[in-house]
Amino acid sequence: MTAVVSLSGVSKEYPGGVIAVRDVSLTVSAGEFVAIVGPSGSGKSTMLHLIGTLDRPSSGTVSIDGHEVARLRDRQLAALRARRIGFVFQQFHLAVGQPALDNVADGLLYTGASRAERRRRAEDALVRVGLADRLDHLPHELSGGEKQRVAIARAVVGEPAILLADEPTGNLDSTSGAGVMQLLGELHHAGTTILVITHDRQIAASLPRQVAMRDGEVVSDDDVAGALAAGPR
Ligand code: ADP
Repeated sequence: MTAVVSLSGVSKEYPGGVIAVRDVSLTVSAGEFVAIVGPSGSGKSTMLHLIGTLDRPSSGTVSIDGHEVARLRDRQLAALRARRIGFVFQQFHLAVGQPALDNVADGLLYTGASRAERRRRAEDALVRVGLADRLDHLPHELSGGEKQRVAIARAVVGEPAILLADEPTGNLDSTSGAGVMQLLGELHHAGTTILVITHDRQIAASLPRQVAMRDGEVVSDDDVAGALAAGPR
């Protein structure tokens, strides 16, 4: 299967000497749905930032969708990020004062699509996340769960190769959180590759693969789907 994410011997040392990620090697294939778990401070967000090309490693190689990040110029990296990677954060990060439709359409700003085309595709994405009747609502007129659905619609409207989610249910009540996880499950079934950081053991246990981190290292990698695909041992 095609590797969408490939980390090889990746470390990240922050100024001041904190080694947040230590010699991590990880491969994620197209279509996987992976939970990243571990105590606070274990390097989960740093690793997600490296995968999302928001940060560069101190050593090792990061390849995303077949591109080795270190070999790309800033402009190429920005294009890779805009076109191939979708982000969802705990804090939603929606533009205040902008209706849901425009928030999602902005996810296509770098694609060169016309405004009409961006809005048409944004509407499709909002319908897909169950918000057909909330297109014109401003973020403050939406519930937490709905805000996160808008953020997910914005992240996937450009059909990225990979969706990265950092504690997407962290600010939600359990019902809204379950709804958001169900939505991610639907996107996974439709073929999207998803990596999600979660503190919630139940959520992690429900996903086919769990990568556990501690002190910057990957300490376990339970790939139930992969083990099943490989057949009996
Ligand atoms: P997690 O997501 O598992 O909570 P992080 O990746 O946020 O862990 O942090 C890993 C370690 O790196 C922690 O010790 C944290 O304090 C440190 N760290 C994170 N971001 C920075 C930064 N920008 N500068 C310095 N240290 C950082």
